[in-house]
Amino acid sequence: MSLKLDGKKLSLEIEEKLKNYISVNKTIAKRKPGLAVIRIGEDPASGVYVKNKEKACSRVGIKSYIFHLKDTVEQNKVEQLINKLNLDKDIDGMLLQLPIPKKFDEQRLISYINPEKDVDGLNEQNIGKLVKNEPAMRSCTPAGIINLLRSQNITIEGKNIVVIGRSLLVGKPLSLMLLNLNGTVTMTHSKTTNLKKICQEADILIAAAGKPNLIDSSFVKDGAVIIDVGIHRLTSSDKSKPRLCGDVLLGDVIPKVFAYTPVPGGVGPMTVTMLLVNTIFSWQKQFGLSSNLNDLLP
Ligand code: NAD
Repeated sequence: MSLKLDGKKLSLEIEEKLKNYISVNKTIAKRKPGLAVIRIGEDPASGVYVKNKEKACSRVGIKSYIFHLKDTVEQNKVEQLINKLNLDKDIDGMLLQLPIPKKFDEQRLISYINPEKDVDGLNEQNIGKLVKNEPAMRSCTPAGIINLLRSQNITIEGKNIVVIGRSLLVGKPLSLMLLNLNGTVTMTHSKTTNLKKICQEADILIAAAGKPNLIDSSFVKDGAVIIDVGIHRLTSSDKSKPRLCGDVLLGDVIPKVFAYTPVPGGVGPMTVTMLLVNTIFSWQKQFGLSSNLNDLLP
């Protein structure tokens, strides 16, 4: 029987550790860790993601500060807000909820975030350190995937790993993290020819293409590990129950694989948990707190 890599269960276990860590250390720090989230505009999915982050913060004892700006706000006003938060001593982590409306220069805004507070790991200084395999804030979805693999002792070193997708948010940082852990990584994308053949060689296949049910069992080697990053809301006649699916046709693939991540309940919950972890690491660094959380670093 295939092994389910249960991100929901693992994230609850990690949250318990984080909660204890904060409750023990907040007397030394004399305040809770603080996370600022900047949302611009009315993208409904972003609204759901920000709410989930806020709830996760309150579960473990992180104070969240939500800044919901109208899409009429000027770029320089957002830059000023980021600068203010960079200097705010109560804020350990900060993120810009993506996507933001097209009129904004997203990369410029991200480059304004103090790298020490860049809990999404998207600032060029943190990406540069990832390329150099130096310690720095790492992006959350890839870090969550590595923790999921480790939780079941799935070896990365020496494995053939195929990553589908080369975005700055998922595919590229994930490929680099796996490479740093001595995987043999092939990064594929929308212009890759012969995707299926490349995937068939993978010991670990990671789908982050953002294409519903792109991967069926014909792409997958017997006994492989399959990680599904995609999240898609399918329209159903019963609107009260939106159905979610990933990039992988799971029902078809599960009988063939050693392990898989479900959608929902796989990579998604781990992404939020790693955001909490990054915020706590920044807090810990600021107050020189001792750590028993280092095994969560990718
Ligand atoms: P993106 O659109 O920025 O990037 C998609 C990548 O996939 C691109 O590099 C593109 O070249 C590649 N691609 C597209 N079609 C392809 C095809 N047919 N064959 C091979 N490669 C193809 O998306 P993203 O931000 O990287 O997100 C990818 C998916 O992961 C989305 O469904 C997104 O919702 C989901 N996601 C989930 C989480 C989570 O926490 N679970 C986090 C981030 C993103």
